[in-house]
Amino acid sequence: MAGDAYNPWRTALAQLDEAAARIGLDPDVHAVLSRPRRTLSVSVPTRMDDGSLRVFEGFRVQHNMTRGPCKGGVRYHPAVTLDEVKALAMWMTWKCAVVGIPYGGAKGGVVCDPKAMSPGELERMMRRYTSELLPIIGPEQDIPAPDVGTDATVMAWMMDTFSMNRGYSVPGVVTGKPLSIGGSRGRAEATARGCVDVVLAAAKRYGLRDGEPTAAVQGYGNAGANCARLLAGCGFRVIAVSDSRGGIIEPKGLDPSAVSEHKGRTGSVVGFPGSAAITNEELLTTECDLLVPAALENQITGRNAADVRARIIAEAANGPTTPGADAVLESRGVPVLPDILANAGGVTVSYFEWVQSLQEYFWGERSVNLQLRDIMQRAYHEVQREADREGSSLRAAAMSLAVSRVAEAHRVRGVYP
Ligand code: NAD
Repeated sequence: MAGDAYNPWRTALAQLDEAAARIGLDPDVHAVLSRPRRTLSVSVPTRMDDGSLRVFEGFRVQHNMTRGPCKGGVRYHPAVTLDEVKALAMWMTWKCAVVGIPYGGAKGGVVCDPKAMSPGELERMMRRYTSELLPIIGPEQDIPAPDVGTDATVMAWMMDTFSMNRGYSVPGVVTGKPLSIGGSRGRAEATARGCVDVVLAAAKRYGLRDGEPTAAVQGYGNAGANCARLLAGCGFRVIAVSDSRGGIIEPKGLDPSAVSEHKGRTGSVVGFPGSAAITNEELLTTECDLLVPAALENQITGRNAADVRARIIAEAANGPTTPGADAVLESRGVPVLPDILANAGGVTVSYFEWVQSLQEYFWGERSVNLQLRDIMQRAYHEVQREADREGSSLRAAAMSLAVSRVAEAHRVRGVYP
C-alpha cells in the first residue's frame, strides 16, 4: 500500500499528463480530467461488539461520468487514503474506456482493518457507510463493487441498505452480489479470467506459447488465486505464489486448488506441503515467464525493477508498478500488460451483471465467459496496435486510447451550462 514517498494520486496524474502530451489533449479537457468530479468524505460511526462506538473514515470518489454512470469498488484496508481512492477512481475511468464499456470511474474506501472486525461490526459499518453515500449512488449514477477487503456478502448488505431506503429491491445499485439476489454467473473469477484472456491473446507475440511457460503470482485473494488456477488450467506451470504473510515456491509446479484449500484451512499459502518459503520481494524477482502482481499497488518499484526476471508482467492488481519501475522495465524490454487492460475483466462482468440486473434477465456462465473473452481480446489487440503505431509501451498505448475516448465524449457533450 502507499508508502511514505509513494503517492498513487501523483502517479495517476503523471500518467494522465504523459498521455495528454502524447495525444495532444485539449487543455480544457485535461484540466477537467485532472480532478475528480465529486469527492465525498464521510464519518462512519459504528457500534462495536463490546458496546463501544468507533468512528471510521470513509470516502467515495467519482472521477468521471461523461461516458456513463460511475463504476468502482469499495476497499476496506487500514492504509486507505483519500489520494489512493482518487487514483483508483481515475484508473477506473481509463479501464472502462479501454475495454469500451459505457461507464466512468469511481472508487470507495473505508479506513479499517476488516480482518480484526467481527461480521456484525463489518455489517453495521457497511450499512452506515452506504447510508452516507445514498445521495450519490444508484444504478443510474454510481454502482459500487467489491475490492480489496470486501466481497459478495458486503455487496449484499450494501444492496439491501440502498433497497430498504427506496422501499423496493434495487439489484442494479451494486455488482459482485451473490447470485441469489441478482449477481452474475462468472463474476467472482472475472478479473482473473479477463487477465488470463489478455495473457493468452498476447502469448504469441511475446513467445509464451512454447512448452510449459512458468508463472509467479503475488497475492492469493480473489484476483491472484483465480489467476493461478486458470493459468494452471491452460498449460502454465505456477511455480510461486504469495499472500500478505509471505510466499512459497515449488519449481516443479504448485496445484493452485490445493494451495487455496491450504490457505482456507491455515489462513495463508505459507507452509503449503512440499513448497519452500520465499519472501514477497523474492517472489517478484523469481525467474519465470509470466509475473502476475495481484495484491496491492507499489510492488514493482525503482528499487527492484532491475531484478525482475520475468519475461512479461500482467497486472492483475491496480497500480502494482510505479512509473520509475515502468521506465526500467521498458529499457530492459520487459513488456507490461497494464492494469487498466489486464484487470478490466472484473468491471466488464460487473457491466454484464448490471445489464442483467436492469433487465431481470440472466445469462448462463458460458455466455458470460465468451462475451468477456471477446471484449478482453479485442481490447488487447486495440492496445497492441496503438503501441505499435505510437512506438510506445502497452501502458502508454492503453492510456492514449482511454484518454482519447473520454476526451471525445467530453468534446461531443460540451461543457454545461
Ligand atoms: P483480496 O482482498 O481478495 O486479495 C488480496 C490478496 O493480496 C490477499 O491474498 C492478501 O493476503 C494479499 N496481500 C496483501 N498485501 C500483500 C503484500 N504486501 N504482499 C503480497 N500479498 C499481499 O483482493 P482482490 O480482489 O484479489 O484484489 C487484488 C488486487 O486486484 C487489487 O489491486 C485490486 O484493486 C485488484 N482488482 C481486483 C478486482 C476484483 O474483481 N476483485 C478487479 C480489478 C482489480
